[in-house]
Amino acid sequence: MHLKKKYYADSIVANLYSHPDSLKHFELLDKLGVRQAVDTLASGMKDLEELQNQAVDIFSKESLDDVLKYVTDLLLQKFVPTYLVFVVRSSSSDLSPTVKSFKNLKSVPPILNVETLKPYNEFYKDHKMMMMYSEFEKTFPDKTELNNLQHIDPRIIAPIHGIGGLYGFVVISRKVLDDVYTDSEKFFIKTLLEFTSVSIQNILNRKWAITDGKTGLYAAAYFSERLAQEISRAQRHSHRVALILLDIDYFKNFNDSYGHLAGDRMLVLISDILKSSVRKEDIVSRFGGEEFIIMLPECPSTNAYEIAERIRTNIKSAFIIENGKKVNVTVSLGVMSVVADSSLDPNELIEKVDMAMYASKKNGRNRTTIVRSQSLMEKAKNIL
Ligand code: GH3
Ligand code: MG
Ligand code: MG
Repeated sequence: MHLKKKYYADSIVANLYSHPDSLKHFELLDKLGVRQAVDTLASGMKDLEELQNQAVDIFSKESLDDVLKYVTDLLLQKFVPTYLVFVVRSSSSDLSPTVKSFKNLKSVPPILNVETLKPYNEFYKDHKMMMMYSEFEKTFPDKTELNNLQHIDPRIIAPIHGIGGLYGFVVISRKVLDDVYTDSEKFFIKTLLEFTSVSIQNILNRKWAITDGKTGLYAAAYFSERLAQEISRAQRHSHRVALILLDIDYFKNFNDSYGHLAGDRMLVLISDILKSSVRKEDIVSRFGGEEFIIMLPECPSTNAYEIAERIRTNIKSAFIIENGKKVNVTVSLGVMSVVADSSLDPNELIEKVDMAMYASKKNGRNRTTIVRSQSLMEKAKNIL
């Protein structure tokens, strides 16, 4: 539709400039404003076509950072606001949204302190559109939040909406060089932010579907999907795949002694240790309540065992503070690395490391048991 209109506009422009009659009446057309109107129409069409291409680019971004960087670059090509701030929901709750701030083209630490999206959530149920800040100020009921926004001298504020409600909002402050935002700039911001909303929504939905909310690790279902993919890839190239499975020792006692919230903090600490103990290509997942699994593509047995042992000792020496006292846990681990042959089945592999992990439990906990490949069909053997 837009393209058709564009060709139409282009052909009017072409006719206007090439037709002998229009040349004859050029001055009249100019005086009547026809020429300028056609130019504006053609350049508007060009802008729309550009926006269409930008939409395609925005939708192909895979992370929130990538989207915001791309959109910020586009906005900054048109004008430079003193501050540009994105406030985006970081979990399914209203609390602690992510704040990305830019000052005169540069990324800076969060400039706004937004603790909750709740007042915005309420407000944007009835106000779906981008607004000039002067209008927002008159209608937004939460005066504390207004004070919070005030110091960046906001001029435009726009919601980021999605199927799940409000995903966040964007605040654009005064322009560095010129005070007033033109109608075409406002149209550009509005359209770009509508595309951005859809893209952010896709990214967040994907992120929440594949990660565990408590620890930020991959969820079990996503892990199983990735393991199956990795095994079929490894089978094609006869590569290795290694798994490490670990379970916290006596975690029920830990919860009973220090409370469930302390238990949760311990889960987060362990997750951070796991993430920092492996390579970028390894997949760390919360596999059950207090059970974790790691897939290490192309990792030989010795390395997988060393990594598992490093994880075990790092967890043993890490602690959280409860009532002024350092408290810690230990973990039991099972490890296996195999060359992926055509008969390798993901579930069988998980069963084997599970058996190895249980052997660690049986033999006293706080230890690692490795399944030797040649004894794949044999009982897991504890090498400690
Ligand atoms: P073992 O050494 O044999 O593994 O003993 P255990 O006590 O760790 O094992 P058990 O299976 O008896 O108990 C697991 C405990 O993990 C019980 C459950 O409350 C706790 N747990 C599971 N998920 C969470 C969670 O999200 N937060 C907290 N705080 N605890 C959890
Ligand atoms: Mg346990
Ligand atoms: Mg368990």
